[in-house]
Amino acid sequence: MLQLTAKELERYRRQIMLSGFGEAGQKRLKSSTILVTGVGGLGGTAALYLAVAGVGRLILVRGGELRLDDMNRQILMTDDWVGKPRVFKAKETLEEINPDVQIDAICEYVTPENVDALVQSADLVLDCAHNFIERDLLNVACVRWNKPMVEAAMNDMEAYLTTIVPGQTPCLSCIFPEKPDWDKRGFGVLGAVSGTLACLTALEAIKLITGIGKPLLSQLLTMDLATFDFAKRRPYHDPNCPVCGDKYREILEKNVGSDSVFSSTKVLTTNFPISL
Ligand SMILES: [Zn+2]
Repeated sequence: MLQLTAKELERYRRQIMLSGFGEAGQKRLKSSTILVTGVGGLGGTAALYLAVAGVGRLILVRGGELRLDDMNRQILMTDDWVGKPRVFKAKETLEEINPDVQIDAICEYVTPENVDALVQSADLVLDCAHNFIERDLLNVACVRWNKPMVEAAMNDMEAYLTTIVPGQTPCLSCIFPEKPDWDKRGFGVLGAVSGTLACLTALEAIKLITGIGKPLLSQLLTMDLATFDFAKRRPYHDPNCPVCGDKYREILEKNVGSDSVFSSTKVLTTNFPISL
């Protein structure tokens, strides 16, 4: 576990004060690498809150150039950057805000060729990708490499959040066996909506790493931001899921007679790659 400098102790003093957080929580953040796929209104804003919280290393992955119609929600961007690769501006902005965080910017989309290396290089994955093709690739790779993934998605004024821990919780394929018909640019989006979900996504990641609070394991938080109706649902864990079915059965067999397989303590102490 990395130690904290005097500057870091002062920079993060107000969160270190939080009950259950402490210097131990801050060291865990500093020792963590988080992969953020998508650096738009959702992933970019989540990355911002992870950077200011002091996560040691962020790997940002997103291909393509900034468009003018991104600017209603992509708060790491500036007007003069339109037409240029957005992931590099995200790195620049985050480094200006917190130079102590290592930011790796990769100007690529998630593909079958790069997904395994990307997932293996991180302790935790934030899925903020803008389409289900990339989301599915990440889900399969996270199950394959036993990496936890925070899954954040939105459509119009609705938002969804859950954490997937391979073998322990339903995976993305269990939750959405048939993919919703969401086109990548086919729905309206308001910056305050993507930003709200982004803050919750960053908070979920911080919870998983530090152990503070209670993360959304085997729970799907659904939010209708038009009406402010929030609900937690328990998604079905499909024992015959084509992605996680074998891993699920393997874990169940190891825990015969134990009802603690789904408890968050069990998940965090046995599966999370950072020692707690
Ligand atoms: Zn599954």
